[in-house]
Amino acid sequence: MKALVAVKRVVDFNVKVRVKADGTGMDIANVKMSMNPFDEIAVEEAVRLKEKGVVTEVIAVSCGTTASQETLRTAMAIGADRAILVETAEELQPLAVAKLLKAVADKEQPQLVILGKQAIDDDANQTGQMLAALANWPQATFASKVELADGKATVTREVDGGLETIAINLPAVVTTDLRLNEPRYVTLPNIMKAKKKEITTMTPADLGVDVAPRLKTLKVSEPPKRSAGIKVGSVAELVDKLKNVSKVI
Ligand code: AMP
Repeated sequence: MKALVAVKRVVDFNVKVRVKADGTGMDIANVKMSMNPFDEIAVEEAVRLKEKGVVTEVIAVSCGTTASQETLRTAMAIGADRAILVETAEELQPLAVAKLLKAVADKEQPQLVILGKQAIDDDANQTGQMLAALANWPQATFASKVELADGKATVTREVDGGLETIAINLPAVVTTDLRLNEPRYVTLPNIMKAKKKEITTMTPADLGVDVAPRLKTLKVSEPPKRSAGIKVGSVAELVDKLKNVSKVI
């Protein structure tokens, strides 16, 4: 059984990004880029399923510029067997990525596609759901446990206030939540091994997908600055301020 894992190159989660002065987007020139953290969890899960003998091949897919090769090498250092780069310099929105992943899935015929629940740059939380809809496959989002057996996936999902366990037929789409696993550290020998693994490159046109953006960003702005707090002298003063100044009670 093949597992396809979608990995996106995003600004590293430690970087504090700034809004461009003209409000058209984020300034990401010269900042550190890494694999989207939820996608690391996705690769780790696929590799664990392979180590358990449930999955036979793990294929990492990334859509973006040539630089995404680096992200794919990381996926292969974690343990993916090979990689596919859908190369384009165009801005890719979730619907375009879902269409590209659907086209790759049509070629590769995986039984499972694992994605992160959300990319930490656009925070869209859409690609997995759109892929499931386009492929007409069942989906289990926000997974914190995945078990595969007898053509089915039993997936525990993190929902508001608890956990939900569902069984879905394969092929299926699963998106990862934070508690699914803790990704392993990539070791130097595995980084070296990953250099020898294969990356196949194709373009959206090769896959017959039009990736033109459908949404237009009107404005990006910083969250409002927090104003300084004050010290109150008594509970009565606190209640008074909450009632009459901030008007929250
Ligand atoms: P989003 O819907 O943008 O929040 O992204 C959800 C997930 O879709 C990510 O965690 C990735 O697994 C996958 N994904 C989004 N964009 C890309 C991309 N350009 N290349 C590969 N996978 C992607």
